Amino acid sequence: MKFCNLASGSKGNCTIISAGGVSLMIDDGLNIRDLEQRAMAANIDLSKINAILVTHEHSDHVKGLSALVKKYSIPIYCHDESAKYLDARAAAYVNRRNMDLPFELGEIEITPFRLPHDSAYNLGYRFSDGKASVAIATDLGCVNESILNYFIGCNLVMLESNHDIDMLRSGNYPFALKQRILSKNGHLSNDECAQTIATLAASGTKRFVLAHLSQDNNTPELAFEMTARALETAGFSEGRDVFVETALQYRATAKIILD
Ligand SMILES: [Zn+2]
Ligand SMILES: [Zn+2]
Repeated sequence: MKFCNLASGSKGNCTIISAGGVSLMIDDGLNIRDLEQRAMAANIDLSKINAILVTHEHSDHVKGLSALVKKYSIPIYCHDESAKYLDARAAAYVNRRNMDLPFELGEIEITPFRLPHDSAYNLGYRFSDGKASVAIATDLGCVNESILNYFIGCNLVMLESNHDIDMLRSGNYPFALKQRILSKNGHLSNDECAQTIATLAASGTKRFVLAHLSQDNNTPELAFEMTARALETAGFSEGRDVFVETALQYRATAKIILD
């Protein structure tokens, strides 16, 4: 199984997972030019994408869909509650199915799971090809027991590390927006991401990707340090026992190969 994040953050998200000849895109919040440039740089052929899976209807996750399906005619999988918010062109490509249940596309088993977020509905996804498993979860206010269970046993977990709580509290966002981000239906802090990753490292996961970092209330260094420190406290050394990458807004991650 291969993983590559092309963009992550409130200005646009896009991740590619492939295995056994099937390539899946998770979210497309990029304009078509940026998407094509990044895909080309990462050696990803957009004409070979078999399906697009949508997490939720916020524009940083769906605003590229319409132009993408127009050019490449790719089926979209999306929860009914989120599909209502797509524009007519993207909606016409939605392959309707019950997104609360696992399903298979080629050799990849896809397990959607609900995340607490201030959208109509939000899904995390777990992917497995029988050899490796990957889970991705961004735009979530908290990690509860049931979400944690979807991560356990994965070779790679991409998890939101949205904000540094002090930066957010002391920053100049309006009070209501701060409260929204900090709430259980908002975004995940560096602290909670780091604690979750330390727990998952103890259960055997070795690769992590920090995602959806705020450009105003976080830095890649802060997010990384918080996780590296939590791992160290739990007895793991980043770069030796466990590997942490940071997904960025304007640059794709390296392609990560799992087996
Ligand atoms: Zn988002
Ligand atoms: Zn969102």
